[in-house]
This record gives sequence, C-alpha cells and structure tokens, in this order.
Amino acid sequence: MIKIKDLTYYYPETSRPALENINLTINEGDFVLIVGPSGCGKSTILRAINGLIPNFYGGKIKGEVLVKNKNIKDISKKELFKTVGFIFQDPEKQSVYNTIEREIAFGMENLNMDITRMKKNIAEVSNLFNLDFIKEKSINNISGGERQKVEIASVVAMDPEVILLDEPTSQLDPISADEILNAINKLNKDMGKTIILVEQRLDKSFDMADKILIMQNGRITNEIGKDEINIYI
Ligand code: ADP
Ligand code: ADP
Repeated sequence: MIKIKDLTYYYPETSRPALENINLTINEGDFVLIVGPSGCGKSTILRAINGLIPNFYGGKIKGEVLVKNKNIKDISKKELFKTVGFIFQDPEKQSVYNTIEREIAFGMENLNMDITRMKKNIAEVSNLFNLDFIKEKSINNISGGERQKVEIASVVAMDPEVILLDEPTSQLDPISADEILNAINKLNKDMGKTIILVEQRLDKSFDMADKILIMQNGRITNEIGKDEINIYI
C-alpha cells in the first residue's frame, strides 16, 4: 500500500535532516504505530505520506514515496486524498464550518462526491462514532472529545484506504482518548483501513498495532512486528 525508499528530507534552511534513510513498507490493512521522542521525525513521516512534502515545504528531498505503487509526485492531490486521509493533533485547526454536518461533509465536497453518497456516508460515520449530538449541537458547543470524533468522522466519510493520525488524543481527557482509540481500532479491524498512528498513549495502542516503529533522530531504529510485541509489554 505504501512504500518509502531511502527517504532523506531536510526542511528549508536546516542543516540536519528531519528524516534520514527511511525505508518502510506498509501493507493493506496494517495498523502501524510510530513512537519516539519529540522531534525525531514522526510528524514528518506522516507529511511525507500525505504529500505535504515536498510540495508544501520545499526543502531537500531524496528517495521516493509510493502509494499503491505510484510515486506520489505523479499523483494529483485529489487522487492522493481519496486514498490517504490525514487527521491532525489539534482539531480546531481543521474546522471550516459551524454546523457539525457541514463540517463532516467538507472533505467529501472537495472530492465532488454526489449528495446521496455524502448523506449515506454521514449516516454511516455518525453511527460508527456515536455522533448522536450531531443534530442538536453546534460545532462550537461540543467537547474536545466530541470535536475530535467529528474531525475523524469527516476524514473517514471520504472513505480513504489509509488513515494517518498524528497524536489524535493528545488534547483529550483519558475517557475520550480511550473512545477515540477504540474507534480507530474499529476502523482497522472491522473496516479494513490501513492505519498509521503517532500516539503517546502506548498502553492502549500497543495492543492494537501490528507493527511498531521506533524512531530516533530522523531514523527508524527499530521495527517490531506483531509476534514480538508481547515481549515488550
Ligand atoms: P516529531 O513529530 O517526532 O516530534 P517532527 O517530524 O515534527 O518530529 O520534526 C522532526 C525534525 O524536523 C525536528 O528537528 C523539527 O524541529 C524539525 N522540523 C519540523 N517541522 C519543521 C519545519 N516546518 N521547518 C523546519 N524544521 C522543522
Ligand atoms: P472519478 O474519479 O471519475 O470521479 P470515482 O471512481 O472516483 O470516479 O468516483 C465515482 C463516484 O464515487 C463519484 O460519484 C464519486 O463522488 C464517488 N466517490 C469517489 N470517491 C469516493 C469515496 N472515497 N467515498 C465515497 N464515494 C466516493
């Protein structure tokens, strides 16, 4: 599904690479957890997969990122976003509308999805994420946990095959964080989505993952497979 080959990346005006010689294969349906200290390159790997690098940041890039065997340089943004959905740490930054339904519909509108399909997808994600507040509340009146659920729902409604999540629970209380992680697990186990998760709450996410990547200084220093995970818990 995703293949990264010898990827080295320097942000503009930096002398140390944010990523150095990354090689990585992620198969369809994998649940990959990325861990490592702050600044080791976790977010940058996600940006490499969702096409923000190199187009958005410039900088110096070596190596290749392939999504479904195509170099992402050769895929249009729209095409890429149909395959790869991206959820940020801070939900506020992503919201565009003030009603919850429109917020969820936003990504689908950008894909020019027809209205019948949009409605069907909204119903499906509302069900999956227990968004029973969707009709009564405005987006400004929901809790942080509900807000993050709405953001994830809007990405899932676009029906991408791969979902990247960058510390989706970092702003949340433990109960909401658990709910979000359970929903992410469902996306993988019940819906077959490929998940790439950067997460600090390891107690829960360790169990969900098929593969754990440990990063340090822009490199993947360890790759732990499903069979080995138990040894580390
Ligand atoms: P992590 O997600 O593991 O905290 P990042 O991928 O955000 O790490 O950062 C990796 C390295 O790249 C760090 O040294 C960070 O300071 C640097 N970096 C991140 N974003 C930028 C940017 N926009 N411009 C310059 N350097 C950056
Ligand atoms: P095209 O790229 O020519 O629009 P697609 O196969 O992408 O053809 O789309 C066919 C139909 O499926 C369109 O009505 C489109 O809105 C809808 N569609 C495309 N991608 C998705 C998706 N990820 N989830 C749900 N519906 C989609």
